[in-house]
Amino acid sequence: MYGKMQQHLQAELKAIEEAGLYKNERIIVTPQRAEIKVESGQKVLNFCANNYLGLSDHPRLISAAKRALDERGYGMSSVRFICGTQDYHKELEKTISDFFHTDDTILYAACFDANGGLFEPLFTDEDAIISDALNHASIIDGVRLCKAKLYRYANADMADLEVKLKEAQTQRFRIIVTDGVFSMDGNVAPLDKIMALAEKYDALVMVDESHSAGVVGDTGKGVTEQFDVLGQVDVITGTLGKAFGGAIGGFTTGRREIIDMLRQRSRPYLFSNSIPPMVAASGVEAFHLLQESNHLQDKLHANVDYFVTKMKEARFDIKPTQSAICAVMLYDAKLSQQFAADLLEEGIYVTGFYYPVVPKEQARIRVQLSAGHEPAHLDKAITAFIKVGKKLEVI
Ligand SMILES: *Cc1c(COP(=O)(O)O)cnc(C)c1O
Repeated sequence: MYGKMQQHLQAELKAIEEAGLYKNERIIVTPQRAEIKVESGQKVLNFCANNYLGLSDHPRLISAAKRALDERGYGMSSVRFICGTQDYHKELEKTISDFFHTDDTILYAACFDANGGLFEPLFTDEDAIISDALNHASIIDGVRLCKAKLYRYANADMADLEVKLKEAQTQRFRIIVTDGVFSMDGNVAPLDKIMALAEKYDALVMVDESHSAGVVGDTGKGVTEQFDVLGQVDVITGTLGKAFGGAIGGFTTGRREIIDMLRQRSRPYLFSNSIPPMVAASGVEAFHLLQESNHLQDKLHANVDYFVTKMKEARFDIKPTQSAICAVMLYDAKLSQQFAADLLEEGIYVTGFYYPVVPKEQARIRVQLSAGHEPAHLDKAITAFIKVGKKLEVI
């Protein structure tokens, strides 16, 4: 039986490889942090993790996890509504609601699930979902599972959003759906303008803060803080897998009845396991740590400013960024791969992206900055970029 399919898959895989799109995984043999060691023994500086606040190996998160492991065990072996809810899960939901100034929060195994389970319980074929063209794959999939009519607007294009809102006026409910930070350019969604349009055209607003929570806004509360609309957005989704320790877990936070309905009807919540106690306990610790002091957010913002300024001084072409993502534009696909390979030789780990991950002729190196980076790390990366940039005649 398998023979015919095997041949088919082998041919497909070969085509992926020949197109240069085959994804190989680099094996890390240290904790996730700024300085990592890979299996070959090479030590590199990591500039491609979503570890924006450097919490992935933070001692306080590790000890909170160990304590929970001892006190509450390893796993829950249940979905939340049967017997998968401990005090830690409720405490984490409350902590997330306080952080984002929202009514209530529901946890998921991942933000992919939060987005996958968000739309179908709330919207029907009478409704409209108006979605940014560059939204994350999990939003795209979540929308597909729902019968509402889909309208797509060009990335962060408010004129196009307004056109789509006008077209969607005959539907019962409308919701504007956007990432907070777009992961390839590092730009933020213009939430002030989105909120104004939502008001004018009677729409709800949903923001996925996965790349922005912990990062954007003076105290890291995300784009709702940046645009001074804390507590005003109807639905926020986010992940514990990026700035907040990077383990696993997602959440939806927002209006009380919306969260209530998700607990009743959201399929990834009802039919998938509860997050482990240690992850819930460390999640609480991560949010507490951020609320006690603004040190990590301040350090991250200073690191981004420093890196971008130095790279611009060196005449690199940097996309305007409003986050911890810095896109160094090279435009040529092959050049982006060569550049990343040469940087790795210099001990700097970054990723080169090209079509179809980014538009054609828009190849780039994506640098992700972190509060875990020290000035010496940044200087080493900048020096390496300049060396490789000169060698490859980019600057
Ligand atoms: C990373 C990411 C997700 C997925 O988060 P997980 O918790 O890893 O599933 C969802 N949405 C956006 C915008 C992301 O960047």
